[in-house]
Amino acid sequence: MPEEKTADQRPPSPLSLRRRDLLGSLAAVGAIGSVARAASAKASTSAAWDFIVVGAGVFGAWTAWNLQRRGNRVLLLDAWGPAHNRASSGGETRLIRTEYAGNELYTRWAWSSLAEWQDLSRRHELPIFHPTGALYIYPADGAKIDESVALQRSLGIPIEKLTRAQMATRWPQIDFDGIAVGVLQPTMGALMARRSVQNLVSDFVAAGGTYHELAVDPPRSDGGSLRTISGGGETLNAGRFVFACGPWLPKLFPEVVGGRIVPTRQDVFFFAPDAGDTRFQAPAMPAWVDVSSKDLHYGFPDIEARGFKIALDAHGPKYDPDVADRRVSDQSLADVRAYLARRFPALAKRPLAEGRVCQYENSDNGHLLIDRHPQWSNCWVVGGGSGHGFKHGPAVGRYVADLVLGSGRAEPDFTLAAHKVHG
Ligand SMILES: Cc1cc2nc3c(=O)[nH]c(=O)nc-3n(C[C@H](O)[C@H](O)[C@H](O)COP(=O)(O)OP(=O)(O)OC[C@H]3O[C@@H](n4cnc5c(N)ncnc54)[C@H](O)[C@@H]3O)c2cc1C
Repeated sequence: MPEEKTADQRPPSPLSLRRRDLLGSLAAVGAIGSVARAASAKASTSAAWDFIVVGAGVFGAWTAWNLQRRGNRVLLLDAWGPAHNRASSGGETRLIRTEYAGNELYTRWAWSSLAEWQDLSRRHELPIFHPTGALYIYPADGAKIDESVALQRSLGIPIEKLTRAQMATRWPQIDFDGIAVGVLQPTMGALMARRSVQNLVSDFVAAGGTYHELAVDPPRSDGGSLRTISGGGETLNAGRFVFACGPWLPKLFPEVVGGRIVPTRQDVFFFAPDAGDTRFQAPAMPAWVDVSSKDLHYGFPDIEARGFKIALDAHGPKYDPDVADRRVSDQSLADVRAYLARRFPALAKRPLAEGRVCQYENSDNGHLLIDRHPQWSNCWVVGGGSGHGFKHGPAVGRYVADLVLGSGRAEPDFTLAAHKVHG
């Protein structure tokens, strides 16, 4: 894999220079907004686009980027903006890891996506990927762990299996009570979620794609294809449409997606370590996933001074991304503090720096949902990230582009037929 460079070491690239000229270095969101407004007139008067991609979260952004790079005229739309605050892609950090319990497709996709995330990171001023390493800790050793390690080694992915004693020596700030083994993926780490999607959309626009802010109405068509979409008084037409609307997909396609993707509430916490305490920053601390209970806690070291991030992977209650309350609950804060006291005792009483509520967009079996609409032959739905989709953004973008351009093979696990109505 290419070596990750720090911001100082990174050479300026034509795209990043253009982006700086276009947007200014730090005001990406506002600047994207003005590019969007400038593009608005074009969007409303233009004849057909080759593709309209609805949803500028991680899946829509990488899909638009891939389609545009293959010579298509692509319009990317979002109701509120790329990786906005309530989008599933709008968080601070997302874990990229190749530990997938032996699932070869996701292991390969995560590994191949890493190279593209690193390319994106190199094109921009602020880092998009922090190579903190990713540590899985398990209560017992077993054949499943070895199978997954063997798969990763066979793909050339650096990986270390560690005993509890080795981990305790290496990371004395973690209490490994109840843990037997760990698997460290030293080249994995943290993706800066919101920043990466916004930078990718900037690159898409700089390379000739069009981004436009528009809330699209649920699409309608009596025929075998979708000719236009509308919203906010505009009607737009295109040859083909991709809807990558994350947790909003069930609202746009109640008959097709409703019940197949169920958004759930997820509380996320950032705790402030003591001033000068570097034990909870990279490189002293990797990103980590604790598999010792079925609920599975995970977290990140203190990255860019946001605090030590921790969350519970267990699915919370059903959640409406438009109207549900986004204040973290006292109960989940108490639960997370109890966990910290056990596993990261030095942090148990540290102040809460930030709490966020986001939503997973869960399929019944955790697989992505990517398929052609059953009635409209020129329309695809893309979603079902199910709490692990972000890292795969680059692979999803390539996969969807291949599929909609007719050169790809559909993955059976991703089809509508493979996903049950649930929740
Ligand atoms: C707390 C949390 C932690 C996670 N941790 C990880 C992790 O560590 N690693 C990992 O790989 N993944 C992780 N995930 C999962 C990952 O973030 C999501 O699967 C992924 O971001 C989903 O992206 P998306 O593009 O499908 O959806 P979104 O990011 O929600 O994007 C959908 C977009 O569609 C737009 N839209 C919706 N309706 C309309 C409309 N009518 N008109 C126009 N636009 C519309 C929305 O505004 C939105 O911007 C996590 C998710 C959460 C919530």
